[in-house]
Amino acid sequence: MGNITFTMIKPEAVEAKHTGSILKRIEEGGFRIVALKKVHLNHERAGLFYKVHKDRPFYRELVEYMSRGPIISAILEKDNAVADFRTLIGATNPEEADEGTIRKEFATNLSMNAIHGSDSDDNAITESDFHFSSKERF
Ligand code: ATP
Ligand code: MG
Repeated sequence: MGNITFTMIKPEAVEAKHTGSILKRIEEGGFRIVALKKVHLNHERAGLFYKVHKDRPFYRELVEYMSRGPIISAILEKDNAVADFRTLIGATNPEEADEGTIRKEFATNLSMNAIHGSDSDDNAITESDFHFSSKERF
């Protein structure tokens, strides 16, 4: 078993019907889907998920955005999952994302950047536990 990371396809990318294309990129990137679901985070749950950013100026906008419609959440497994997934999705700001990355192709701008990826092994576990019980993982 490799390491895990946690991802969300964000509301605007789900609305734009990019779910299938993004999941295909993830699987072709060597990640195994351990858990997967579509869920609409309410304002409170979106705020809790991103609470590390609660003092940042963009927090209110981020919580509004992440609760505006359903997301696709998933746990992914691969050796070196966290770092390799951040490479696959590209920089937070799509204008700075490398060619061939998911954000370069699917993100709208810095605020609406299509996809989330955990930033550490510890956060990957915390975020996975936030969204999935052990019975939802295969
Ligand atoms: P994520 O955690 O969603 O994978 P990230 O780790 O690349 O993104 P963070 O710094 O954790 O970036 O920011 C979380 C999210 O907050 C970003 O993905 C983006 O949607 C939003 N965000 C970050 N910085 C800004 C900003 N300066 N203005 C507006 N929104 C921002
Ligand atoms: Mg982050």
